Amino acid sequence: MAIRPIRILGEPGDDVLRQPGERIECIDGSLQRLIDDMIETMRDAPGVGLAAPQIGIALRLVVIEVPEVPAFALINPEVVRTTGQRWIEEGCLSIPGYRGDLFRSVKVTVKGLDRQGRRVRIRAADDLLAQALEHEIDHTNGLLYVDLLGGTEHLHRIDLDEAEEEEAPPADEPDAEQRPSAPRRRRGQAPLVYVARHRLRGRAGAAGPRSPRRR
Ligand code: ZN
Repeated sequence: MAIRPIRILGEPGDDVLRQPGERIECIDGSLQRLIDDMIETMRDAPGVGLAAPQIGIALRLVVIEVPEVPAFALINPEVVRTTGQRWIEEGCLSIPGYRGDLFRSVKVTVKGLDRQGRRVRIRAADDLLAQALEHEIDHTNGLLYVDLLGGTEHLHRIDLDEAEEEEAPPADEPDAEQRPSAPRRRRGQAPLVYVARHRLRGRAGAAGPRSPRRR
């Protein structure tokens, strides 16, 4: 397995992020290796989902790992049904340093193939899995969450250094290497990917206060 570089919006090589992925016709050993690499890359980031275009491969392939579901791959995924709307916060590994508030569906049903090529149908409702399914499948259609924002006022910058600091084990002097001018961000404002990892480790209670408009 190998960690692949993640393509970043606005940097060279980002055109693949805007390219609809091709359908996968052959589930062979090289695809299995690609899936393993994607899972490793997602965990390293860390994130709760990754789509093949994010590592420069224009294929309809996503991997997802959320606290309630072990890591899985979905080949040629399609959203077949959505109902309801909810206003939630989102981030993307290809748009580091930002988060946005947007509408996602409450209930999501998707279909595709698992890594063995078996047909699967996944239903999720009002949870991180539902959000991740929509987000990652959007990637396979060349769509990014920033395209769904009502306006740029719904996109906000976050301090990645601090988000990573929250992720790191406690140090003797946690503020020792912090830039003196960096404004202190409230805990709980980490991007989705980090918040999810906190939940995975059972530290959700430490995430701090949440804005009432969030779920
Ligand atoms: Zn993304």
